[in-house]
Amino acid sequence: MAILPFDDRDGVIWFDGALVPWRDARMHVLSHGLHYASCVFEGERVYGGTIFQLRQHTERLINSGKVLGFSIPYSADAIDAACNAVVAAQGLKDAYVRPVAWRGSEMMAVSAQQTRIHLAVAAWEWPSYFNPEARLKGIRLKLSKWRRPAPDTAPTTAKAAGLYMICTLSKHEAEAAGYHDALMLDYRGLIAEATGANIFLVQDGKIHTPVPDCFLDGITRQTVIGLARARGFEVIERQIRLDELGRTQEVFLTGTAAEVTPVGEIDDHRFTPGAVTKALIEDYDTLVRGKTAAASASGVAERSPSRSAISSSGKSSARSSVA
Ligand code: PMP
Repeated sequence: MAILPFDDRDGVIWFDGALVPWRDARMHVLSHGLHYASCVFEGERVYGGTIFQLRQHTERLINSGKVLGFSIPYSADAIDAACNAVVAAQGLKDAYVRPVAWRGSEMMAVSAQQTRIHLAVAAWEWPSYFNPEARLKGIRLKLSKWRRPAPDTAPTTAKAAGLYMICTLSKHEAEAAGYHDALMLDYRGLIAEATGANIFLVQDGKIHTPVPDCFLDGITRQTVIGLARARGFEVIERQIRLDELGRTQEVFLTGTAAEVTPVGEIDDHRFTPGAVTKALIEDYDTLVRGKTAAASASGVAERSPSRSAISSSGKSSARSSVA
């Protein structure tokens, strides 16, 4: 299949305050963000024309910039509006949105105090597929040789471009060996996450997930923990050793792109998506796509929460149920 390059498409991109033709959204080759990774970004999903959890992503973008020592020169409202404008201008219904902020070209050295901060937002079609059978097969993960760095080694709370260098290396290595993705340990050798998604393990009906103390506490992760607790599942955030895979029955990943993705294999360990994974796939689908899609799925869910129950600010809401 021919690749459609990302710099040669129709449409518009929001670039430093205005919508510009897609092919004109260019930056100079001598940009600090390119050379020194002074760059942060977001990944958002549009379902039925609405950006899911937009404000949480915008807040994380602003915070990621702060962690890297710069202030994005737009308010959260303005960034939300830019994201919505891009989606609307292109008439997108099911799509991916990519805001990105970076230091410009004014200075070209490690020190970059006087650089201008740029912001761009692009969006492209991303079909909202819902095929429970295909998804339930589970993806195959290979253990990476790269580890998530300690929080005093890299700015691990930021969704910063530099942190993805080892993700790309890990993913390429896994793909070359015939796997879908890589599992990364952290600097202590504990289970951390996949290259673009958080990980959950099911052991004897209880859900375990690593403490996000050196990797992103994903927005989807927080939502899925809320969904699981609303269903009455016990969710335990703790340090998880690799040798625990042997006594784990189900594994799944969560992320804006991954949604809830079952894992069938990690190196020599095999897992079968079971009742917990299926219930959370269905609940997440109900939340993002509405009842109709989920209802036609599998019938595994008996108590799917409503969209309003999860987005409310009450105690049982997905966001307020996590730290
Ligand atoms: N970890 C990494 C490394 C990621 O890139 C992502 C995707 N942003 C996640 C976890 C999941 O985060 P979220 O649920 O906010 O998309």
